[in-house]
Amino acid sequence: MNDPGASNPPLEEYLQQLGQQFAERLQQELPALAEQARQLLAVESEAQRQAALLALRDQLHKLAGSAGTFGFGGLGERARALEQQADQWLQQTQQQRQVLEAFSLQVAELQQQLEPTAPAPPLPSPPSAVPRGEPQPRCIYILESLGADGESVRQTLSTFGYQAEHYSGIAELDAALQRHVPDALIVDSELPDETQSGLQYAKALQQRLDAPLPLLVISAQDDFATHLEAVRAGAIGLFSKPLDLPKLENCLDRCFVQQQGEPYRVLIIDDDRDLASRYSLVLRGANMQVQMLHTPAELFSHLREFNPEVVLLDVNMPDCSGPELAQIIRFYDDWLRVPIIYLSAETDIARQMNAMLKAGDDFVTKPISDNSLVATVFARAQRARLLSMALARDSLTGLLKHADIKEQVAIELERALRNETRASVAMLDIDHFKQVNDRHGHAAGDNVIRALANLLRQRLRRVDSLGRYGGEEFLAVLPDCPADQAQRILDEIRERFAALQFVAAGQTFQVTFSAGFVLTDSQSSASELLERADRALYGAKHGGRNQVRQAD
Ligand code: GH3
Ligand code: MG
Ligand code: MG
Repeated sequence: MNDPGASNPPLEEYLQQLGQQFAERLQQELPALAEQARQLLAVESEAQRQAALLALRDQLHKLAGSAGTFGFGGLGERARALEQQADQWLQQTQQQRQVLEAFSLQVAELQQQLEPTAPAPPLPSPPSAVPRGEPQPRCIYILESLGADGESVRQTLSTFGYQAEHYSGIAELDAALQRHVPDALIVDSELPDETQSGLQYAKALQQRLDAPLPLLVISAQDDFATHLEAVRAGAIGLFSKPLDLPKLENCLDRCFVQQQGEPYRVLIIDDDRDLASRYSLVLRGANMQVQMLHTPAELFSHLREFNPEVVLLDVNMPDCSGPELAQIIRFYDDWLRVPIIYLSAETDIARQMNAMLKAGDDFVTKPISDNSLVATVFARAQRARLLSMALARDSLTGLLKHADIKEQVAIELERALRNETRASVAMLDIDHFKQVNDRHGHAAGDNVIRALANLLRQRLRRVDSLGRYGGEEFLAVLPDCPADQAQRILDEIRERFAALQFVAAGQTFQVTFSAGFVLTDSQSSASELLERADRALYGAKHGGRNQVRQAD
């Protein structure tokens, strides 16, 4: 894990600059605040006094929220205490002059609290792994002592494009780990020949490593105690025997997709530009992409263009309150998946609850430490992305659904025209799939569908799009891919799929698919391309199946 404190001096510098700027602002604001407090004593009427007290309370509220964030913790706390006092008085009609004088003096004394109290907080390090460049085969180690399960996991993962190694004992695995640390580890919880269980071993291993490995556990047990033990060993998945191999592969795939994902997109809405800039720097330092919005009326264009995965929202703003903005966002289903986190100097629990009941998902109280800001935003963003991925995807295969992959054809066609390249659009259909269901059962059929989906995902490039077009039909869009290349890739996938050994109720069987593909051109629409690919597929079926044909 990198240390941004050491590797990222510009961020450190920016933060210091912002802190400096804030300190300079205080030099002006605190005397003004003291003056405001003196005025409180000079006003004539009760109504004027109430108005002055209200204005003062709002100033103290802002100060209480921002000072701590910039390292003036003592000042922030003091301002918070005075704010609460002002708040109490606002509930009453009469304030005794003596008490007001003391209060006014205390506000003036805030200027003496200008020494930074907290040392500059350490910069948080991004909890995500560093994004990788071009995909390379992922290396997976499997620890399983009986041999049969381990070997079938190894074989399946190899077919899916992983570099998988199977070890039947701890000593053997330890030796391999000395040579090379894999990208993930699969461990059988039962190791009859060893003195410790697979989970005990994995737990100790995770503690030994610099960064814990994604760990998948396979086990003959699926009781609660085993789940708990697996979690304590740092597992991300538990798979009971007999193993559902495509499901296991899905889990690995999801884990890697998450690791290499794009930076999370965060929209900050706060009228205090210094505070917003600070949050923005801290989140950018944790490898997130940030946009700031100071004018609430520009909300829609920001949402549409930036497409944030988390919204950080101030509660008290001059033109429009945070809860009001949150309610506007919630008018639209498109933004339902985006969590809204209030960032506010509001410490009154009842008011916090009120804001959340209107709209919003979480409440973080200013001043907030850099680490908790990063952790809160990261956790929310991660969950939001996982959910929106799950919603856009077909539940059996994890691929795009019919409408989305069709839309992708249109998008890639446009891109190809713009770039003057040619994309290939391929339609695949499993051969005699009805027979697979009839002979081996629907569940076995589902596994075949999943296996083909996984194989396609592994063999195609990251730029390619892939969807489940229908029951046992798939659609792939391969940008910048000439005919000979498309033919070669599809044939290679066809051969690998035909070689897969499926097992259901003790019976082994093999399955094939047929495919038709078409090259994009400047004359054909997306639906014409799909029709031609479908005709080519029909030709492949009539030509004897288990083959790939290019459209005329
Ligand atoms: P062909 O080689 O001509 O494509 O023959 P086929 O049997 O594959 O063709 P057909 O389209 O007639 O049959 C497709 C079958 O796929 C029918 C349907 O019951 C089955 N099917 C569709 N969706 C699913 C699914 O999600 N799971 C399973 N197990 N079967 C499905
Ligand atoms: Mg079929
Ligand atoms: Mg079909």
